[in-house]
Parts: sequence; C-alpha cells; structure tokens
Amino acid sequence: MGAATDWVANYPGFPDGLSGFDLVERFRLQADRAGLMFITAHIDQIRSNEILFHLEGSGERWVARSVIVATGAYPARLGVPGESEYRGRGVSYCATCDGPFFRGKEIAVIGGGDSAIQEAIYLSNLALRVTVVHRRALLRANQALQKIAFARPNIVFRWDTILVDISGGENVTTVHLKSVTDGRVESLDVQGVFLYVGLKPNSELVAGFVDLDSQYAIITDPLMHTSVAGLFAAGDIRNTPLRQFVTACADGAVAAQSALHYLERN
Ligand code: NAP
Repeated sequence: MGAATDWVANYPGFPDGLSGFDLVERFRLQADRAGLMFITAHIDQIRSNEILFHLEGSGERWVARSVIVATGAYPARLGVPGESEYRGRGVSYCATCDGPFFRGKEIAVIGGGDSAIQEAIYLSNLALRVTVVHRRALLRANQALQKIAFARPNIVFRWDTILVDISGGENVTTVHLKSVTDGRVESLDVQGVFLYVGLKPNSELVAGFVDLDSQYAIITDPLMHTSVAGLFAAGDIRNTPLRQFVTACADGAVAAQSALHYLERN
C-alpha cells in the first residue's frame, strides 16, 4: 500500500512531502546500509512448536526464533452489484496504479476517509471530473486533505449518498447512487469507480494461530506482543487506531525492540 501512495504530506522530516514510492525506496536504502538482509518470497504458512517458528513459501523454508508480522492491509470491498465484474474494467482500488487510464474521464470515488480524499485529489489531476460519493454530510478525512479537495474545481461531492450498483458494457459506463435522506436513486455517467471504504488487515496467514479482533486485525499490546510468545505485529495489520506511515514506522521500532528483548530472555 505504502509505495502505491501518490503523495505523502505528513511524514516528519519532509516538509514539502514526497511520493510513497520515494519514501519506501529511502526506507529500503537506509535498511540496506544498516546491513539488513532482504528475501523476497510469498509466505504460505507460519507454524510454531513453542520454541521455533517454521515459515514456508515460494518453495523454501525458514526457521526463526522470533517473527514480526507486518503484512499490512488491503482496501475493503463494498460488495455492490458490478463491483467484482468490472474490476479492472473501470473499478479500481488503486488510484496511482490505474488513474492514468482515466485521463480526461469522469470518475466516482466512494468514501469520505483519508484514502478517498487523498486519492480523489490525485485523480483530479488527471480526470475531467471526480465525484466523491459519501454516505454522510461530513468527511472523516483530515482537515488538510479536506482543504485541498474543497479548493479543486473539478472535485464535486455527493453528500448523504451511497453507491447502489455499477454497470456498463465492456467497461463501466454508469453508477446508480441513492440518497440516504429521501431514498431517491439517480444514475451518474462515469468511466471509473475508485472505492475507498476502509482497510482490511492481511491476516489470513496468521488466522487461527494468533488472536484477531472482530475486524481480523492482530491484537497486540503496546509493546507489539501478540497472543503467541515470540510473534510480534507492526503497522496496518494490527488493531491500531491510525494507519499512517509514521505510526507503522513507530510500531516497527517497538516490535524490533520487543523481539530483541524476547531473544535475550529465551
Ligand atoms: P476509513 O478511515 O475507515 O474511512 C472509510 C470511509 O469509507 C469512511 O468515510 C466511511 O464512512 C466510508 N465507508 C465505510 N463503509 C462504507 C459503506 N459500507 N458504504 C459507504 N461508505 C462506507 O478508511 P481509509 O480512508 O482507508 O483510512 C484507513 C486508515 O489509513 C486511517 O487510519 C487513515 O488515517 C489512514 N490513511 C492516512 C492517510 C494520510 O495520512 N494521508 C491516507 C490514507 C489512509 P463514515 O465516515 O461514515 O464511516
């Protein structure tokens, strides 16, 4: 998710902001210089015999005395008709990946949080018009993002409105929107629909192994301990009230310190 963030305006030390891609590259360079070893692999399974963790994936196996899980989160699906059918044919969850396909087009962005408004701002640089569809009349997004969005002439807001369905032919042509105040349904002609209705933790790998909350986030204490000794969690995967670069980095530092203490004691 981080590298797919178009612009990061709230990471300390970068008063002019920078792209998510650049920030992640800097993280990687700094970690490289500190001597961190990177292995690229898809992990399918983590098991523990109470002394060691066994990780399997990409045809390989690893053994570790401690593990920090930082598998992040993915954009939630809304579940409306047309959403899955038109994925990749007008429906997207990643503005930086797919935005350029909608240059000069009409786009609907669904949601009112930081993600929806940040990505609506990015898309407004490319699209003819961005219609933000929000189920309330008040945005959840932070004030700085709201200020930028409200000043953009090609971002319009449909308040107290929900997305009913997405339709079209080969590609998306239309969405139906319903007012939550009077129930009226209207159609809007769009070529792109970007959905930002929250984040879901990528916790499948550890489900049934560590305790998760009702939103499937890993439950941690303030020191990033999970319910399994030696297993720690950091960032968007855990039950955190804020999912930003800065909070994920802070979690990572605390988790690393806790893992070191665990290794010293065990
Ligand atoms: P979010 O904060 O959970 O916001 C989700 C939005 O979608 C809310 O406006 C919510 O409406 C709406 N929504 C949820 N379910 C819906 C449904 N069924 N139908 C219609 N609308 C629905 O998610 P997010 O914006 O992805 O942000 C997630 C986390 O990442 C937050 O911690 C956020 O601060 C962080 N983040 C930060 C930045 C940044 O710092 N620049 C950028 C992106 C994300 P209501 O408001 O009515 O609940």
